[in-house]
Amino acid sequence: MLSRRFFLKAAISLSSAAYASSLLACDISTLKKNLAKIFDSSSSTAKRLDFVSVAEESKNSKYKKGDRCGACSFFNAKKGEGDFAPCSFASNRFVPSCGWCKQYKKDPKKGA
Ligand code: SF4
Repeated sequence: MLSRRFFLKAAISLSSAAYASSLLACDISTLKKNLAKIFDSSSSTAKRLDFVSVAEESKNSKYKKGDRCGACSFFNAKKGEGDFAPCSFASNRFVPSCGWCKQYKKDPKKGA
């Protein structure tokens, strides 16, 4: 189920020019067929991962500017749809490319 918080964050971010580029990368409308498979950012798994749907909002000390799901080894872009893709840490649910969690592992083959 889609998190109300996710939509709120997206809406807040949409109003910020600073987040414009990352938001374009996280357009929920690009997820159509697998909308029901989106990762619930309010789930216990998300809390355990310290997951945020907008990476720049992370307060975790491991987060570094530029880190995001879309550049992570666990973001399975081959099975992705739009700006979302399944992640094994997120129970193979779809995470946004502009999200982040503390299991982030930079994939050198993916852009920053
Ligand atoms: S493991 Fe990587 S792709 Fe998965 S939620 Fe964390 S940062 Fe995103």
